[in-house]
Amino acid sequence: MNRAGILAVVGFEILSCAVLAACGGKYEVHKETRLVLGTVVEITIGHPDRDLARMASKEAFDEIERVDALLSNHNPQSEIAGLNASGAAEATAVSEEVFALLERAEGIRVASAGAFDVTVGPLVELWAFDQGGRVPEDAAIASSLASVGGTRLELDEKAGTVRFLAEGMKIDLGAIGKGYAVDRAAAILESAGIESAIIDAGGDIRLLGSRPGKDFWRIRVKHPRKVSRPLVDLDLAETAIVTSGDYERFFMVGETRYHHILDPRTGMPARLCQSVTVVAPDTAGADAYATAAFVLGPEEGLRYLRSLPGVEGIIVDAKGELLWTDEEKMGQ
Ligand code: AMP
Ligand code: MG
Repeated sequence: MNRAGILAVVGFEILSCAVLAACGGKYEVHKETRLVLGTVVEITIGHPDRDLARMASKEAFDEIERVDALLSNHNPQSEIAGLNASGAAEATAVSEEVFALLERAEGIRVASAGAFDVTVGPLVELWAFDQGGRVPEDAAIASSLASVGGTRLELDEKAGTVRFLAEGMKIDLGAIGKGYAVDRAAAILESAGIESAIIDAGGDIRLLGSRPGKDFWRIRVKHPRKVSRPLVDLDLAETAIVTSGDYERFFMVGETRYHHILDPRTGMPARLCQSVTVVAPDTAGADAYATAAFVLGPEEGLRYLRSLPGVEGIIVDAKGELLWTDEEKMGQ
């Protein structure tokens, strides 16, 4: 894994001082970092009461850890890992929470014409990006593809059960689960009375309100190829912003870049984009839409993002050109 890349996907304004003077009041800035969700998660809270901020931050991290333990493929105790290990040949009951997320994912799969598909699990294992990665044999890709495809995932809403209609199927929530965990953490902060915060899970970002004393947070979007300069700075408030890029979890063979965003229809890394940044009302949505648009490519991806209410995005195509859903709406 290219950890340096993950850390720098999107940065934000550095709050260097512990106390901000805002609108005549004093705002404490509480910042806490933990390694969870396979990445570095940072929660920054602006609130006058330091103890309240500290407690809210702890509760938000506890919630992220709970969601990780529910969805992670790396934790054999998780519901998703259990489902995958069982093969789910018979209808298998899952928690309401997991069922709801699988249903949401299914809706996004259909709307994205199969570009986003959480049944990519067998392909993700085959490419093994988490262990440094390797190019599989064509025959191995073909055989994995027989166990991939959302139409082979049966979701029974009444019974709350899941069934795999093909052998060897595996669910991988890597493209939506992180965003979902961030949304859950945001809900915890909100219920604790926090109105100004950033939750940043390695580039899956949710903004509560704005920076104390301002009406936005300044978000720096990483350039997919140039380490030394940002792609853009965006001034945003009360929204989610997520970037999917081919500079995370990748390896090179000669000039060819093999990366972790896979086209479920071919079993190969998607080739048409370098990065996709999505601004959306919720982080789970932004996370999934960014992956979907990346696989769809600039033309179809832009059309797809424009079809989603309240969603804006920036696509960097394979040549490095920037395409916007609506440059003005993104404040440029
Ligand atoms: P993201 O970083 O949000 O774009 O998600 C990429 C991760 O989601 C990968 O590391 C895989 O675990 C998984 N994934 C890869 N390709 C897809 C896809 N086409 N649809 C859904 N999940 C995917
Ligand atoms: Mg995603």
